[in-house]
Amino acid sequence: MEEELLRLQKAAHEDLAALSEIKELEPFRVKYLGRKSEFTSLMRQLGSVPKEDRPRLGKLANEIKVDLEEKFSARKSELEQSAAGPSDSLESDLTLPGRAIPFGKLHPVTQIMEEICSIFEGMGFGVAEGPDVETDFYNFEALNIPKHHPARDMHDTFYINESLLLRTHTSPMQARIMENQEPPLRMIAPGKVYRCDSDITHTPMFHQVEGFLVDKKVSFADLRGILGVFISKMFDENTAMRARPSFFPFTEPSAEIDIACVMCGGKGCRVCKHTGWLEILGAGMIDPEVFKQVGYDPEVYSGFAFGLGVERIAMLKYGINDIRLYYENDLRFLSQF
Ligand SMILES: [Zn+2]
Repeated sequence: MEEELLRLQKAAHEDLAALSEIKELEPFRVKYLGRKSEFTSLMRQLGSVPKEDRPRLGKLANEIKVDLEEKFSARKSELEQSAAGPSDSLESDLTLPGRAIPFGKLHPVTQIMEEICSIFEGMGFGVAEGPDVETDFYNFEALNIPKHHPARDMHDTFYINESLLLRTHTSPMQARIMENQEPPLRMIAPGKVYRCDSDITHTPMFHQVEGFLVDKKVSFADLRGILGVFISKMFDENTAMRARPSFFPFTEPSAEIDIACVMCGGKGCRVCKHTGWLEILGAGMIDPEVFKQVGYDPEVYSGFAFGLGVERIAMLKYGINDIRLYYENDLRFLSQF
């Protein structure tokens, strides 16, 4: 019995070492470890050996079984690894270029917004953000737009209740900041704004950057100077600009700022409706009434404010004619930027 067990173990070791393919593994297992193997039948015979030999032989048989199982599974993983291809890095071609990982990109509107902010930050403006859900007071009344003022109609406001609304512009930040800080102030406030409006040039949600500067002896010439620097950096260095008289309740005097059409260079085309000019932002000198609301003395301080539409700037800069393209999430469109 003992001899037969040891002979079987030796034969199994030799067979195992001779295995060279995965498909030979299973026949080996059946032959040496299966239920009908010679080894299993030897184990069954243990019951009929003399009683005094039984413990010793049983222990030996078990040791051989464990030994064969361990060697078998080690050989199996060896064969499987070599079948999976060379794992040794010396056999890989290290000169092959790596696979490029596709990177996501910032949305074009975010890119333009960051560019706008960084131009103004370069001129010493601080950046502040405010809440999208705003009170009627900060959105309108603090900006000299009392209840029943006709200017409220221009805003197509989404109301949440009597006193809360989705802000229709980023200008509420003017009042919020001035309330808590003393001049001199030089701030911009970028963010989302909401109006109930949707067509080729309007979306219910869009982005604005509000800016304002308050100090002693600030004049309209300062406004023009700051905006001139912004336009030359945002568009072309030689882009012409002009200010047209306009009206906003919170500035006096007010102006719309135009730049020479970026499509035709001012000669006149469909985009500029053959005027040669494109409107890019609204601005003006902060109305004394707004200063009184926040407790500044309008006899001492003056300042200007401006608000620009980020999508509008991005459309002009990239030559896009439909604002809705920004929000359709079409990767073919977005990946161009
Ligand atoms: Zn044009």
